[in-house]
Amino acid sequence: MSYSILNVPENGKKITITDGVLNVPDNPILPFIEGDGTGRDIWAASIRVLDAAVEKAYGGKRKINWMEVYAGQKAFDKFGSWLPDETVEAFHEFLVGIKGPLTTPIGGGIRSLNVALRKLLDLYACVRPVMYFEGVPSPVKHPEYVDMVIFRENTEDIYAGIEFENGTPENDKFKALFKEAFPEEYAKIRFPDTAGIGLKPVSKEGTERIVRSAINYAIKYGRKSITLVHKGNIMKYTEGAFMKWGYEIAEREFGDKIYTWAQWERTKAKKGQDAANAEQDAALADGKILVKDVIADIVFQQTITRARDFDILATMNLNGDFLSDALAAQIGGIGIAPGGNINYDTGAAIFEATHGTAPKYADKDVVNPGSVILSGEMMFRYMGWDEAADIILLAMGKAIAAKTVTYDFHRMMDGATKVKCSEFGDELIKQMS
Ligand code: NAP
Repeated sequence: MSYSILNVPENGKKITITDGVLNVPDNPILPFIEGDGTGRDIWAASIRVLDAAVEKAYGGKRKINWMEVYAGQKAFDKFGSWLPDETVEAFHEFLVGIKGPLTTPIGGGIRSLNVALRKLLDLYACVRPVMYFEGVPSPVKHPEYVDMVIFRENTEDIYAGIEFENGTPENDKFKALFKEAFPEEYAKIRFPDTAGIGLKPVSKEGTERIVRSAINYAIKYGRKSITLVHKGNIMKYTEGAFMKWGYEIAEREFGDKIYTWAQWERTKAKKGQDAANAEQDAALADGKILVKDVIADIVFQQTITRARDFDILATMNLNGDFLSDALAAQIGGIGIAPGGNINYDTGAAIFEATHGTAPKYADKDVVNPGSVILSGEMMFRYMGWDEAADIILLAMGKAIAAKTVTYDFHRMMDGATKVKCSEFGDELIKQMS
């Protein structure tokens, strides 16, 4: 592929994928989007930390060839497009990359650049680890109990973007068709004349690929359980189906590695509760991963009151969106909440800050770069560069333990030293040695 607005680094090589396994050269080309607003400060600090971790881990044997690609305000100012085609092409071609936060365009056809990128690359898994660093200010008593990873389905659900605004011809047409075809269902709309309408598609394939990804991750990293989060007691054929299909694929594809609550229920029905408990205990003692489920409202309580019961959480789109921010609050907030949007089949992945551009702090060099740096940590682990990832985690833990922190943590910590965004990067690099 030749590019007219992008410069492909001469010395690097592409990451490729064969039979679901990434082939990562020692000098990979990694596309990055700097990000708008605070993204500029954050990226300047992050790139130094990521390069330093690779250097420290591999002593020059491995090196990233960064390739800037454009989206957001910077892309619009330079090229008159919020999301140039070449940016999407570059992620298709080079597979793995990272991005800072992007301004959401006001007006025009794009609702959100993040959503557009996820859609165009079919990045169906939004992966958000939620882990605690000792010393981070937290509103809960035992933040150290929180060690979870959310696998949020990224392409379906009420977020599919199929909405009809009240008062538009499209809304009128949709309601007329609906009324004609399903008069009884139509009668359930409480105020039909003014109702906006949104659709909530949830498919078997969409459910299976996110649950499969979550289980594969649990197996790879020795996790203990996967919880399917759903509101199936009310929305039976979307949320309820997510649970049902989730259990089915778990048993069908991973039968020798997992034990499900669906199995427990069947054994209980046949042989009684004691037998079901004994079966589950034996399976877990044998090292099997427990696949269970929870209703989406109670999960917000239980992840606070019994955080240790949760490990991997597989969720639908909207539930996962809410849950990610709620859980991030327990471990220090969005300043250090990383994320990855991944298609485990094509290998394409974009790791990203989960917060926005925080425009009031733009170019002031004050915000926490932790979210992008930890997204880099996730990216390295995804690439199989675990040594570099470990170095980042260790340095982050040490910097926070030393109470050298940016304003967001400083305002909640006693006796801490407040540093700038760039200085926090310096501190991490110092802690690596
Ligand atoms: P935001 O940018 O996430 O900022 C909200 C608040 O979060 C900030 O005022 C700040 O809190 C805190 N915060 C954000 N980043 C931080 C960091 N790195 N370190 C420490 N604290 C941080 O949300 P917003 O103001 O609602 O959105 C601004 C723009 O970003 C909008 O255009 C929005 O569409 C876009 N956005 C982009 C993404 C993305 O690209 N992934 C995600 C969300 C929003 P305090 O004021 O308390 O210090």
